[in-house]
Amino acid sequence: MKIFLLALLFSNLMFSQSVNFKGKFAQGNLIFGKADNVKEIMLDSLNIDFDKKGNFVFGFDRDDTSTHLLQIKLENKTIVRKIKPETTEYNIQRINRMEQKYVTPPKTELDRIAKEREISKKAREKIGDEKTSLFTSGFVKPINHGRISGVFGSQRILNGVPKNAHNGLDIAVPRGTPVKAMTDGVVRLSADNFYYSGNYILLDHGHGLNSFYLHLSKSLVKEGQKVKKGEIIGEVGTTGRSTGPHLHWGVQWFNKRVDPNSVFIFNN
Ligand SMILES: [Zn+2]
Repeated sequence: MKIFLLALLFSNLMFSQSVNFKGKFAQGNLIFGKADNVKEIMLDSLNIDFDKKGNFVFGFDRDDTSTHLLQIKLENKTIVRKIKPETTEYNIQRINRMEQKYVTPPKTELDRIAKEREISKKAREKIGDEKTSLFTSGFVKPINHGRISGVFGSQRILNGVPKNAHNGLDIAVPRGTPVKAMTDGVVRLSADNFYYSGNYILLDHGHGLNSFYLHLSKSLVKEGQKVKKGEIIGEVGTTGRSTGPHLHWGVQWFNKRVDPNSVFIFNN
């Protein structure tokens, strides 16, 4: 009996059973988790990546209204959690000085827009290929100063026409301001003057986490290149659908749109 108890005590010491979460279980938010001795993580029917230290990440889309089932299989038990993300309230943002060609693109540009969309889609298909949790190096702001000229999630009305929700954070700073990678990553796309996004960079941070940097005057990176947290990847501009020099900074978990500000909870 004594030996059995000792063995039990030992196994409990060896296999700590805790799972910690950082983040808000709400629409448009990332959740960072850490579990000891994790064997498998499932969110609904999707296998979630985790690293040797048990780090993992997932996110709830801006408009997520479903209830999810999170299952974390540990050494000798499974933690099951039902999650219904809280509702997030979003602003309405009216922009009235937009060039009309960006509200309704001319027919002559439709082919180009379709081609660019295809290139972005192809690049996005590689998100998730990076199995290293590069994001565990922590996060920095791409630009440390400047006015926030657009927040995440706003319903946009361009020259009176309702458009897609704003899927990023806008920082208004002068043209040429250096833009930093928010965390370690791999460059999936350095797009050349796309109709809507202008010059833009898509970074893969592992486990499905990705970030993008739009309207640049200049990109300083190439596809496949590895970048470090805080490394300068480009310069602010006003290319594509933009009314003045600013950075549009977006973050997603796979295709789930989240508030870029939701990354910083990881650093705490
Ligand atoms: Zn924007």
